[in-house]
Amino acid sequence: MLVQDRNSISLHYFNMNKLRIAIQKSGRLSDETLKLMSEAGVAVNTGQGKLVASCSSFPLEALFLRDDDIPAYVNDGVADIGIVGENGVKESGLNLRIAEKLGFSSCRLSLAVPKNIDYPGLSYFNGKRIATSYPVILKEFLTKHKITAEIHSISGSVEIAPGIGLAEGIFDIVSSGSTLISNGLKEVETVMRSEAVLVVSPALDNIRIALLDKLLFRFRAVQKAQNSKYILLNAPDDKLKDIIALIPGMKSPTIMPLAIKGWSSLHSVVNENDFWEVIDRIKELGAQGILVIPIEKMIV
Ligand code: ATP
Ligand code: MG
Repeated sequence: MLVQDRNSISLHYFNMNKLRIAIQKSGRLSDETLKLMSEAGVAVNTGQGKLVASCSSFPLEALFLRDDDIPAYVNDGVADIGIVGENGVKESGLNLRIAEKLGFSSCRLSLAVPKNIDYPGLSYFNGKRIATSYPVILKEFLTKHKITAEIHSISGSVEIAPGIGLAEGIFDIVSSGSTLISNGLKEVETVMRSEAVLVVSPALDNIRIALLDKLLFRFRAVQKAQNSKYILLNAPDDKLKDIIALIPGMKSPTIMPLAIKGWSSLHSVVNENDFWEVIDRIKELGAQGILVIPIEKMIV
């Protein structure tokens, strides 16, 4: 009895100092989630069929769940944090704090109708049946726009519903739109955009808050690096000032003289989104030998 007590106390104590993260067991979120964690130095010891996994390089324990269950586990404090689609959070109806948007599993949730319909606008859906796996989000949208439609909740293969006479429209996740097209449907309204987010339990103690801060710091470093490129180029000295104005980098670029008089090498960091426009402009200013290199981690 005593031994058992001691074991349970030590187990409890052990887990007290770990951050519990709920992640999707398998699906559209799971690979990217594990990739982000591994790039942040948090390699989860995954194994076939495991429901709980430890981590050797960070005080963390991972719970593998269906994505629909993640918001409730986090809200109840069974997990401290979770990675789930924004749509999953909204569909749960729970008011969870989103600590970070993670930039992957981007998609939109849209209404679609058979492609031969001459779509008159939202009023089309009045008195119609709409099939969906996301009834909460759809209901909120329809109510907001004063549309009275019948919502058919189904758990999968929503896109076949109009073809088999179950509904006149669907509300589903769209990324490229190819699934809609191959089922003879067209997207008519975008209701929400979603990406993977990190949600936080309402009741975290100080140890876990500190661990979460550490984890978020690492996630941000990985994300920032993914959005940035290291750039090296040669430029005539009289154009350096103009080029620096275009690629100011993190603090300021590094300038080193070349062996040829009147020329310098410039090293800086450029944002992925501005990348091509910036390259065009620095080329016009006389930059040559431009090298662009991926960055693995970025701490600002
Ligand atoms: P589970 O078995 O865990 O319940 P699921 O079948 O409900 O999984 P998935 O298809 O794996 O769910 O989608 C999980 C989440 O990934 C979605 O809620 C959405 O946020 C995102 N997602 C879904 N489909 C796509 C897509 N085609 N492109 C990008 N992100 C997507
Ligand atoms: Mg699901």
